[in-house]
Amino acid sequence: MKLKKRIPLIDQHDKNGFWGGKFGGSFIPETLKKPVEDLTNLFEKLRKDKKFISQRDYYFKNYIGSPTSLIKLEKLTKHLGGAQIWAKVVSEANGGAHKIYNATVHCLIAKRAGKKYIVGDTGAGYAGKMLSMAAKKFGLKCKIFMGLKDIKRQKPNCDAIRKNGAEIIPVYSGSQTLVDAVSECMRYWVSNCDTTAMAVGSTVGPNIFVKICGWSTAQISRELKFQIKENFGKFPKKIKLINCVGGGSSAYGFWSEFIDYNKKQIELIGVEAGGPKKSKLHAAPLTFGSKLGILHGAASYVCQNSDGQINETESISAGLDYPGVSPMHCFLKETKRARYTCASDEEALMAYKLVTKFEKLNPSLEPSHAFAEAIKIAPRLSKDTIIIVNSCGDAKKDRDILKKRFGKIK
Ligand SMILES: *Cc1c(COP(=O)(O)O)cnc(C)c1O
Repeated sequence: MKLKKRIPLIDQHDKNGFWGGKFGGSFIPETLKKPVEDLTNLFEKLRKDKKFISQRDYYFKNYIGSPTSLIKLEKLTKHLGGAQIWAKVVSEANGGAHKIYNATVHCLIAKRAGKKYIVGDTGAGYAGKMLSMAAKKFGLKCKIFMGLKDIKRQKPNCDAIRKNGAEIIPVYSGSQTLVDAVSECMRYWVSNCDTTAMAVGSTVGPNIFVKICGWSTAQISRELKFQIKENFGKFPKKIKLINCVGGGSSAYGFWSEFIDYNKKQIELIGVEAGGPKKSKLHAAPLTFGSKLGILHGAASYVCQNSDGQINETESISAGLDYPGVSPMHCFLKETKRARYTCASDEEALMAYKLVTKFEKLNPSLEPSHAFAEAIKIAPRLSKDTIIIVNSCGDAKKDRDILKKRFGKIK
């Protein structure tokens, strides 16, 4: 299994859609083959279309607010006394997180395909919230499939989805969570694909959805590459790019321009959700060596029991609470280009506390996992080492949890 140079990772799959021969693919019912093929053909055409690219860039800039800033966390750096710590503040993006990049691109593709409706599935509700937001912007009617259990525990996001004019379709089958919402959404898409587009909220799902999402979030690393040159003149000799990993779309977007670099120069570190310290449950299939399984229409490492049943996961950060992971991250792990680890709920909370104590930055619980790793490794690294953390979400959404854990918050 080997990475190729000068080919974007999203394109390094074989003709059956597998990265490294075994990750990804397109496990879909026969009836979905045609709409998936149509979407694939359209996407391959549009990504070479100069007009489409300039339209995409226009909305990245004028709707999403790209580029987001790269800032130095001077006080935190000084406190830790080792490597320099920087943050790419992706939470400045419209909607407060990177998911808007993928949602926007899906809406632009849907418009090109002449669709009037767009559907998507959501677990914690953020993917649904962002899709409904973009759908409203681009004049598409939107339906979000969501398990009943998730609807009950994610009320603020459900309210936001409805406020954006989208309809929430409750899913009553199975465990009434994301896995079932995905199946139900795909079923709906099969019967309505003439008028309706479908989006998946991370670099997961059947091959084409991994590619579209990765192609969208890759904007983050294009900006970062430019900003590194701007700040440092030439490329520093030792850089560490740290990102939390749920499905893996922000990490892929943060890293894609840097995968070709030598890992001694640019190390890629993915931080999964380790869950509560006292619990055996987690959402860290790469860290704990989970076995290959099929989830969401693709093969990847999946948290599962010995019978291959998907395990329940647990994490304080809803955004990372997903039992699978992008096939591209499985490939990056297998080729050793990226290193994966996890942070526990408690470590993420401590990191949140430390970052907000020293800096005017309010990272949500997902990037707080990435900060936990930065805080762990920075003290024993040299001052010319540059750690850059993707601060991909804003903690406004985590207010209630933070209040419960810390009493008052800033
Ligand atoms: C959804 C989400 C994540 C996890 O998804 P990825 O696809 O791994 O990026 C991480 N951070 C935030 C803020 C999110 O909303």
